[in-house]
Amino acid sequence: MEKNFNHSLDIRRRVLIVDDEYVNRMLIANILEASGAFDISFAEDGQEALEILKENVYAFSLILLDLLMPRMSGAEFLERYKGDEELSRIPVIVMTSEKKREAESIQQGAIDFITKPFGDPTVVMARVNRIIELSEDRRMIQSASEDNLTGLYTKDFFFEYVEQMERADPDRTMDALVLNVDHFHLVNELFGRKFGDLVLRRIAETLNLFVNSNYGIACRSEADTFYAYCRHREDYTEIAQQISESLADLSQSRRFRVRVGLYPRVDKSVGKERWYDRAKQACDGIKDDYTRDIGTYDSLMLEKSLYQERLTNEIDDSIANKHFIVYYQPKYDITGETPRLVSAEALVRWRHPELGMISPGDFIPVFEKNGLIQTLDHYVWNEAARQIRLWKEKYGVTLPVSVNVSRIDIYDAQFEQKLDAILAENGLKSKDYMIEITETAYSDNGIQLIEVADRLRKRGFSIELDDFGSGYSSMNMIAELPIDVLKMDMRFVRNMMRDEKSRKLVGIVMDIAKFLNVPVVAEGVEDEAQYRVLKEMGCAVIQGYYFSRPLPPEEFEKRIEEQLEMDARALK
Ligand code: C2E
Ligand code: MG
Ligand code: MG
Repeated sequence: MEKNFNHSLDIRRRVLIVDDEYVNRMLIANILEASGAFDISFAEDGQEALEILKENVYAFSLILLDLLMPRMSGAEFLERYKGDEELSRIPVIVMTSEKKREAESIQQGAIDFITKPFGDPTVVMARVNRIIELSEDRRMIQSASEDNLTGLYTKDFFFEYVEQMERADPDRTMDALVLNVDHFHLVNELFGRKFGDLVLRRIAETLNLFVNSNYGIACRSEADTFYAYCRHREDYTEIAQQISESLADLSQSRRFRVRVGLYPRVDKSVGKERWYDRAKQACDGIKDDYTRDIGTYDSLMLEKSLYQERLTNEIDDSIANKHFIVYYQPKYDITGETPRLVSAEALVRWRHPELGMISPGDFIPVFEKNGLIQTLDHYVWNEAARQIRLWKEKYGVTLPVSVNVSRIDIYDAQFEQKLDAILAENGLKSKDYMIEITETAYSDNGIQLIEVADRLRKRGFSIELDDFGSGYSSMNMIAELPIDVLKMDMRFVRNMMRDEKSRKLVGIVMDIAKFLNVPVVAEGVEDEAQYRVLKEMGCAVIQGYYFSRPLPPEEFEKRIEEQLEMDARALK
């Protein structure tokens, strides 16, 4: 495969000269400028040098550094430089008049030295050129250049090359692309690895031809993901089509879908890894939209990811400042004549001082992805236990509360100890506390979950299977599930009144529960008609707006008081 890489010495390099003395700066600059191969930036001390480099670290090919400077000396600069991964990629040549400092500065990370006064310009130039070449070669070699399977560049090499392109032509408007094959693991599963490899090679070939004619380069970043960097164009339908055509003859039974994520007109003031995060986001964004093969990154996505980043950064503070509030939604037993309040579900809310009330649908998925959900869940479990205790003290009755558990919690080796500690601290028993596990967690890693659920039940906890019907558990699996309650997914109730078929589905869920010998809790019951139908069908417990929305503790208390009054009246 032909690639358009050349170790191009025709690219202009940018050099940073750091010296506090004007004369020295000019002398060395004159030597470099005479060759016509350099752009030059100046800094008067280490501090200023760091500031300039921070602006755009990838623009620089070399730093020429004086040692004795006010504010921040060369030695101090080297100290910072050594600890910074990006910075230390740029070679440093120390300029010194003190012979004895040479060894010292090499130890500190400088690669070479030039003595002052500068002496023969050709010698200085030769040294500068050699160091730049050496360091670029080394980086190229370090990033093994070629992906064995496809012959495209590797990711490291690709990024190295992007940097060179940027140095050569920083003002050109460029696009970043991420390409990904839908369900590639299935392609391997169904057709074998060899076939999978063939698919990847075809994509690579097509992509490579495309970037070669578009002032661009491409690489395979991992398994079935490709990156490309090329001159901006308005329309990429062509590449999507070409790839699709190149795969058309491989299988009649299957259409391969290669998604293209585009981040057009990359913002060169942010790191290049970011460009590909953005393109990837665009690529992921069309996963479920089969009408499109190309997704474009837009400012909405940026807003969304900034929003999510903000939530992520603020979780600890918000926990500390009690901005997370636990609401309680009552569950009513409807098997008797009048509905009875029997328990509640703890549902977290974020009362954000600036963003207002944020619903869990916005932040739970973010925290599930980055693992922070564990911290939040732990907080909610604590709060719920404290609340059960407070109500017990105030009303003399224990109202069991169920808490939601994420799949990450299940894999936490300390999970059970944490629950034990919370109960002990509040003088509660495990029967006062119920645990909701969503069905999708079971379908993800059934075996481990079943083990954990089993152990929890042996300790006396009740397990509620949440959102039942939303996952893909097999009948076999369901039969083995160690659960005490089945919470029917809200969608069943929502569709129930629409047609006979949907109502039959509810019947089937009821039958499954009967088979498992557990009661059904129906979630999302919003009106009287739904309530009546469910009661008739033998549903035991109802949770939904029909009875009550999730309530803050103060308001929930009214429900408890109501129930206690009813009980007292019934006794009379
Ligand atoms: P979930 O566990 O299935 O909780 C039930 C959701 O249905 C709640 O949404 C509740 O407010 C809503 N709901 C209840 N009745 C009705 C109704 O009649 N109509 C409608 N349209 N909705 C109703 P919420 O509070 O927004 O929570 C959403 C999900 O976030 C929860 O679904 C749960 O999966 C998750 N979640 C909430 N709190 C926590 C938590 O502390 N930890 C974890 N891991 N997840 C939580
Ligand atoms: Mg729940
Ligand atoms: Mg639910």
